[in-house]
Amino acid sequence: MSEHLLIAALEAAERGSHVFPLRPGTKRPALHGEKTCARTGPCAGGHLKWEQRATTDPDRIRAAWSRAPFNVGIATGPSGLLVVDLDTPEHKGSSDAPCGAATFAALCERAGHAVPDTYRVRTASGGTHLYFTAPAGVELPNTAGTVAESVDTRAAGGYVVAAGSAVPAGRYEALNAAVAAPLPGWLLAILRPAPTRSAGPLRLPTVDGSRAAVVALEAECATVAAAPEGLRNTTLNRSAFKVGRFVAWGDLPRHMAEEAFQAAGEAAGLTAAECRTTIRSALDSSLRTVRPREAA
Ligand SMILES: [Zn+2]
Repeated sequence: MSEHLLIAALEAAERGSHVFPLRPGTKRPALHGEKTCARTGPCAGGHLKWEQRATTDPDRIRAAWSRAPFNVGIATGPSGLLVVDLDTPEHKGSSDAPCGAATFAALCERAGHAVPDTYRVRTASGGTHLYFTAPAGVELPNTAGTVAESVDTRAAGGYVVAAGSAVPAGRYEALNAAVAAPLPGWLLAILRPAPTRSAGPLRLPTVDGSRAAVVALEAECATVAAAPEGLRNTTLNRSAFKVGRFVAWGDLPRHMAEEAFQAAGEAAGLTAAECRTTIRSALDSSLRTVRPREAA
């Protein structure tokens, strides 16, 4: 009686989707949650959530779907998928809400591209899921309405209801037989998480010192703030060490050098604690080894 759901699960898995059971007739995972975990079976070594238990293994799928007419969930993260979910005004419970298909089409037009052609599923509420393969090694976020109004995305940590599933409002149906297309670069650029580096110009605390000391400090702080990831701490260490001689010569109060490098290091993306440790050690080292001004 649930043969078509087993087939839907197997077909999704054949396309590379990692599937897991949803409670019959619903969109909710059928697997137990962490609070009710008995630490047995698949959870013997610790609780596994649906994202970790989702599988492409036909034998495991047959075993699971032999137990009940489960709907089919696709864990988008392990499947390497990004699914764009275009919602409908009816589903949002307000006729004023815009249609996701329309706002997404407008977004594509503004970006100068056609709405991408890919595998599509019509949802039970009349919305549409557009399936894309996510680039390897890029963790994309789940979003709700931030790409465009009534447009959500599901990727790492998210799931979608697969074609073939049914809920009281209706069925999920594949609209074509296409495979998921690679996520277009322009759409990736919109979805990629913002870098953690704080934007905007570097603002140094007001520095009082000799002209040469202030010029050197400002130049070194600019170098630190622009340091590429992987070289940030090394750069901060080297720059603070260089400026240390002005502190030793009495041209620059130590706390001013510390404050300026702290701001520059944090602007580069280092943590406050990392900055403090590196700056202190670099200045200490510089003060220990500095030559007299005459010899410099
Ligand atoms: Zn468990």
